[in-house]
Parts: sequence; structure tokens; C-alpha cells
Amino acid sequence: MTDNKVNCLICDAEIEYLENAIEMKCSSCGKFFTSNARCENKHFICDSCHSKKGIAVIKAICIEEQSKNPIEIFEKICHNSNIHMHGPEHHVLVGVSLLTAFYNANAPEDRESLEKDLGEMIYRGRRVPGGVCGDWGTCGASISLGILASILTKASPLTTDSWGTINTVTSKSLAKMGEIGGPRCCKRNGFIAIETGIDFIKEEFGVDLERTQPVCDFVKYNKECILMKCPYFPSHHKK
Ligand SMILES: [Zn+2]
Ligand SMILES: [Zn+2]
Repeated sequence: MTDNKVNCLICDAEIEYLENAIEMKCSSCGKFFTSNARCENKHFICDSCHSKKGIAVIKAICIEEQSKNPIEIFEKICHNSNIHMHGPEHHVLVGVSLLTAFYNANAPEDRESLEKDLGEMIYRGRRVPGGVCGDWGTCGASISLGILASILTKASPLTTDSWGTINTVTSKSLAKMGEIGGPRCCKRNGFIAIETGIDFIKEEFGVDLERTQPVCDFVKYNKECILMKCPYFPSHHKK
């Protein structure tokens, strides 16, 4: 597989999205899946194969990470060559960045609990398929924030207050994304979800995470970049 950040991992051709999902064979693991996405040369890579290396990298980086700044952690991991420009690994990445910063700010010695919660974040986040922003009307980066909020508040389908809290935080993040509009960008929406998460953690737990102004370093990889319409476009933040 190629190491590119954007296109088909087999042949580097552009990805196309079909209006109706069809059964396709994964070019990497050979298993059959029903999907809307394939490359122009009809290669299909399943979500699991697409994000396998990236998720292993995410866990290894987070467990060693000391930063209390989730934006910095997200940016650092996004620069790793195993993380693609867009892809379902972001459904894990948003939550683990916030989770790691939260532990580093709140309980830096408790690596055992961090590791346990990272495992849970990865288990839940990787079940959110790619492309759900456009197919389900619910961006996976916001869902990742919702999963993080669920883990931290120990919510479940049966809880009362925390059930409300976690659905509210997801909706706040989605509202900001919806106002800006598409096409999707896993970096822009990652930043929006993380900024929403920093406010949430302050309100809910009184923990101040470090924060810096996100400035996107990935414009060159994103041919659908909305440029000046994006709040993180570099020229908005020139000193
Ligand atoms: Zn291809
Ligand atoms: Zn596969």
C-alpha cells in the first residue's frame, strides 16, 4: 500500500462516493463489505484496513504523551505518516487527544486508568464508519467527542443526567460544523470537536486543559479545502 495521505492506498487514484452502497471486496484483507466508497479504478479498502496502522500509532503515542493540550496532541498525531488526510481513524483521534490531555492535566500519575480508557475510546470510536458525516448527518469527529464525554461521565443508555449531558455536547459540536457547511474535512471538524470538548471539560469537571489556536497545516493535502471559509485557514491567523 502507498503512504499517501489522500487518495487510493493501492493506486493513488481519487476516491469516488456512490449514491447507493454495493458489495465490494477489500483489496487488502480480501473480505467482502457493503460500502459507498471506492477509487476510480474500483479498489476498495475496508475501514479496518484503512485505519489499522493509524490506530496502533495513536495508542502508542498517547500512552507516552505528556501534553495537557489536546489540540497539540491531535496535530502531532495527524502529522504521523500512518494517519490519512481523511478517514475513520479521526473518529478515535478526537476522543483520545482530549482523553490524554485530561489525564495529563488531572491525574498524570494514573497511566493505568488512561490506558484502560484509551482502550475503551478506541473500541467505541473504531466502530463509527467512514463517511457518516455525509451519509448519516452526524460527523464522526462529533461522535468521537460524544464517546469521550460518555467515558468521562460514565454515561450509558440508562443514565439520566449524563445521558443528557453527552447528547448535548455532541449536538453543540455538530451545530458549529453544520453552520460552516461542507465538503467534509477531518482536520477542520477535528479542531471544532476538540475546541468544544475543551469547554465541556472545563464546565463539567472544572479542569483547564491547555489550548492554542489551531492553524491548519494540512491544506496541501485537501483538494476540497474550503480555504478562507475555514476558521483554521492559515492566513486568518498570520501575526
Ligand atoms: Zn485504486
Ligand atoms: Zn480490509
